[in-house]
Amino acid sequence: MGEQMQQLYADALVWDAHAGVFPSPQVDLNLLDHWQQQGASYLSINVGFDVMDWQDTLATLAAYRRWILARPERFVLAGSTADIDRARTEGKFALSFDIEGMNALNGNLDMVGTYHALGVRQMLFAYNLNNAAGGGCHDEDHGLTEFGCAVVREMNRVGMLVDCSHAGHRTTLDIMQESTRPVVFSHSNPAAVWNHQRNIHDDQIRACAATGGVIGLNGMGIFLGDNDIAVDTLIRHLSYVSDLTGPQHIGFGFDYSPALDIDIGEILASRPDFWPDGHQYDTRGIKHAGPELLPPLIDAMADSGFSDDDIRGFLGENFRRVAAKAWHV
Ligand SMILES: [Zn+2]
Repeated sequence: MGEQMQQLYADALVWDAHAGVFPSPQVDLNLLDHWQQQGASYLSINVGFDVMDWQDTLATLAAYRRWILARPERFVLAGSTADIDRARTEGKFALSFDIEGMNALNGNLDMVGTYHALGVRQMLFAYNLNNAAGGGCHDEDHGLTEFGCAVVREMNRVGMLVDCSHAGHRTTLDIMQESTRPVVFSHSNPAAVWNHQRNIHDDQIRACAATGGVIGLNGMGIFLGDNDIAVDTLIRHLSYVSDLTGPQHIGFGFDYSPALDIDIGEILASRPDFWPDGHQYDTRGIKHAGPELLPPLIDAMADSGFSDDDIRGFLGENFRRVAAKAWHV
């Protein structure tokens, strides 16, 4: 990295909108060191997804909260962008939680506020398959349900970021119609660059930007290309979205998990309902770009003609702007 870009990186707010760690109370959260070593300021950690029972989501949330709150010298459980700013000033790592799919609500709207009170600041609607709230991207999407509409309104009311990743096309458009606050795709790539059912189409990208929202680019090789995590490939995705929306609507949700004793391929193969055949999920040795790719990415962004302000936006300021509105604080 050039000296100027190195300084920009060191001073920047670095926001990762979604971790891809398999959620479980047994996870050793010392793996968060990986993000901190790469200069991340904030990470949203997934505590559950529709593949799990809702009780397991609650147990994971309880375990992560306890672990993080027991280490106030290292971490801030952030409820607001002010908390994130304070954490940066104090040299700490700011964290909050997300949940991938509304099965975690167990059909109960009251749970939205309860999760919010426990530190969840971002929720997705459906995880690949349809549920009571809406349609999934690998399913016959039936659109946002009445319950899903009520959830959007409740999320807007309590101050939780509305996240369209993993939902079906029609459901995402319904969600963006319903939400009165900016909406994100925390970890989704443009389908025009790599045609995958988990990726999103131009109308979804435009609609998200029209809410004032942000698309977080995903670092998983099978969503970027043919298991391809080259810097040039990420830049192709980034430039494509930027050409559609302008640079103010892009960030990163790497969906990354540091190497664990878990074989991601084995997990994916165990639930062909959630990760169906024909979508590269059976790829051997799925590659994954994480925050360690940021230094070469920053250089490549500058080489592609993006300004320092654009780059600071991609690294975190764009997500910060959306969170400030969605979280109300
Ligand atoms: Zn995901």
